[in-house]
Amino acid sequence: MLKKVLAVTLFLSGLMFSGGCSEEKAVSEADMSSSSRDVFAMDTFMNMKAYGSNADIALSEAEERILQLEEELSVTSETSDIWAVDHSSGAVVDVSEDTALIINKAIEMGNKTNGALDITLYPVLKEWGFTTGDYKVPDDNTLISLLKNVDYSKVHIAENTVTLPKETEIDLGALAKGYTGDEIMKIMEDNGVSSAIVSLGGNVQALGSKPDGSNWKVSVRDPFAPDTDMCIIEVADKAVITSGNYERYFTAEDGTVYWHILDPKDGYPADNGLVSVTVIGDCGLDCDALSTALFVEGYDGAVDFLRSDPSFDLILVTDDRKIYYSSGIADCFTNISSMEAEVISLD
Ligand code: ADP
Ligand code: MG
Repeated sequence: MLKKVLAVTLFLSGLMFSGGCSEEKAVSEADMSSSSRDVFAMDTFMNMKAYGSNADIALSEAEERILQLEEELSVTSETSDIWAVDHSSGAVVDVSEDTALIINKAIEMGNKTNGALDITLYPVLKEWGFTTGDYKVPDDNTLISLLKNVDYSKVHIAENTVTLPKETEIDLGALAKGYTGDEIMKIMEDNGVSSAIVSLGGNVQALGSKPDGSNWKVSVRDPFAPDTDMCIIEVADKAVITSGNYERYFTAEDGTVYWHILDPKDGYPADNGLVSVTVIGDCGLDCDALSTALFVEGYDGAVDFLRSDPSFDLILVTDDRKIYYSSGIADCFTNISSMEAEVISLD
């Protein structure tokens, strides 16, 4: 429930601000009119806002597409692609183009992040109860035995068919919403909408700029006080995607807090110095995959990644309460928290 409430407040605060660093331009009344739509899917409150005369039609198509993707990608729906793959006992399974594309991306990003992103962690996530909310701390032997089947490199994909080793199961929770955001943006563009913003939980994706030509202002939550914002960034045509340890977690009897992003190395919640990772880039799918993976990798791994691919921007929050952001967003980043914020040094 916490996650859902946060999703909504993130969106509201993300859109509360107006203006921006680019010049304002004159727009007609018709371009300024907006429509918005709320959808609950993928266990997340989603809100979409689109401008212009085709906004309503685009939003309806986007809603249909969200529900279709939920149906294909859900790990719990018995008619989904993922259910078929997870219950295939080693047989070859036909999947949709969407599913195949996301799995290919998951493997690519697993390779680029030293295995930090691993879609075969699903049986371990189940054991912790992160899939049902029936939380428990697994015993070490159970974890060791479950981890034997965790290895995304054993997912075999050829065109639109997937084959898994018998005991292996996948879940695309780390990437599905990013892909969904990209698909919504495509629908907007196909319908002639040039200005739109969507919030899918911790994922904000912006199409174009605001109708008056100014940038969208997107706020990012303070991981230490998740009902307040820590910074605002101004963007146009970008995905702004955050993974944090506050999104889904539980507190054990001894007071230890355990969260939903696991380190494939030991099956425990990733605890490598970061409490929040925001990835800003052109493609929602890439940013979503990376937000999860870099959270697992920790500060040094995230900075190494940035060195290898400066086409992304990052906002990292460390567990000692510091914000680090990449130089590419220095002009569009405003710290509104009491934490210190500094530019990531790539030297
Ligand atoms: P959210 O879904 O909260 O927006 P993420 O995009 O970071 O956040 O995805 C987290 C989800 O990804 C988890 O709920 C779980 O289903 C899955 N997951 C957790 N750890 C990993 C990992 N190391 N690799 C791949 N998927 C993971
Ligand atoms: Mg993610």
